Amino acid sequence: MEKIKMSKPIVEIDGDEMTRIVWGIIKDELLNPFIELNTEYYDLGLEHRNETDDNVTVEAAEAIKKHKVGVKCATITPNAARVKEYNLKEMWKSPNGTIRAILDGTVFRAPIIVDPIKPYVRTWKKPITIARHAYGDIYKDVEMKIAGKGKCELVFTSENGEVKRELIHNFNGDGVVMGMHNLNKSIESFARSCFNYSLDVKQDLWFASKDTISKKYDHTFKDIFQELFENEYKERFEKLGLKYVYTLIDTVVANIIKCEGGIIWACKNYDGDVMSDMIATAFGSLPMMTSILVSPEGNYEYEAAHGTVQDHYYKHLRGEETSTNSIATIFAWTGALRKRGELDGNNGLISFANRLEKASIKTIEDGTMTEDLAALAETNNVRCVNTLDFIKEIRKNLEEIL
Ligand code: NAP
Ligand code: MG
Repeated sequence: MEKIKMSKPIVEIDGDEMTRIVWGIIKDELLNPFIELNTEYYDLGLEHRNETDDNVTVEAAEAIKKHKVGVKCATITPNAARVKEYNLKEMWKSPNGTIRAILDGTVFRAPIIVDPIKPYVRTWKKPITIARHAYGDIYKDVEMKIAGKGKCELVFTSENGEVKRELIHNFNGDGVVMGMHNLNKSIESFARSCFNYSLDVKQDLWFASKDTISKKYDHTFKDIFQELFENEYKERFEKLGLKYVYTLIDTVVANIIKCEGGIIWACKNYDGDVMSDMIATAFGSLPMMTSILVSPEGNYEYEAAHGTVQDHYYKHLRGEETSTNSIATIFAWTGALRKRGELDGNNGLISFANRLEKASIKTIEDGTMTEDLAALAETNNVRCVNTLDFIKEIRKNLEEIL
């Protein structure tokens, strides 16, 4: 078979530990034999980030802006222990945080569904994707403990000195207060990313807040979404038969449990923090979650939602056998290849991405699994394999359907 060609590159962002090992195997076994891979490579392994004073992370993000599509391996976010372990010049920031800030993007997390692993919620048949707004609210709040009696106010002093104040509470005894904020610009970017992604994957978009109680704060979120929808997206949604639905957060929670999935649920920052863990657990497991960063301009970065699987890496270094699940990393690659194919009108690439996904799912559904899946599978037909053999089995299935 002739290898598939790519006219434009994907930004390839390499990472750390066990996922870096898996990255190499995926390229050797599942990509290079079939595609003339055209990538612009950035090494975000922690050593190289340290050598470049983390400039390589900024360069990688800029490259995604240029080429529109990136795929990223999991990377270490250093803490004190990592600073020591890698002898770092500094406790470098989270690469994902840096890239997200540069792209001004929203993260969409979606589970990969396979037959032997049943969601805890019986009605769920298709993935539910969570989009989390990643700016402000309690994550950038200011808090105060109040001791005794006194008056607490919100005060805004404008540039030219006008003062606006609002009483929060007349305290008669000890208590607490919190001040938080958000920015219209950030909410707009969030809304745009959500509408774009919804059109992209052709799934309905649900958004919820508590605007009946929070008549200015949450209501602003509701209004910005509604206005953008009416002015810029409504027609395109209607053309594709898609819906944008706004409801209260408690209503959406009730409806999520009753729906069959196949929707995108846009969440405010805190709701997204909480609900993404709920959805991931209810669908099965972290190693089966993908994560896509979408910028308001329509740039895409694909990755696995899990980390570098440090404990498996140390086992690997000790020469012990590992059984690391590579599915989410494979799907990061297929997501990026498909997107590249769509942007460039490269049908061969799109079809390859679809088949690689099919082969991956077939491998699990035929009973060949890594340990984490075997522990969850509701079937007796299980052959538990190591990291490499799992990918080799996927390759066998891929060759059969190519
Ligand atoms: P993790 O790498 O996601 O691993 C947590 C546990 O989940 C593992 O110990 C393993 O459980 C299981 N697991 C995760 N992915 C798996 C896979 N593909 N196959 C099989 N099991 C898997 O999270 P962490 O241990 O908290 O973090 C490790 C490093 O990753 C940290 O340095 C952190 O900064 C980084 N991190 C990076 C990203 C990212 O780049 N997107 C995200 C999160 C964390 P068992 O041990 O029970 O097998
Ligand atoms: Mg959380």
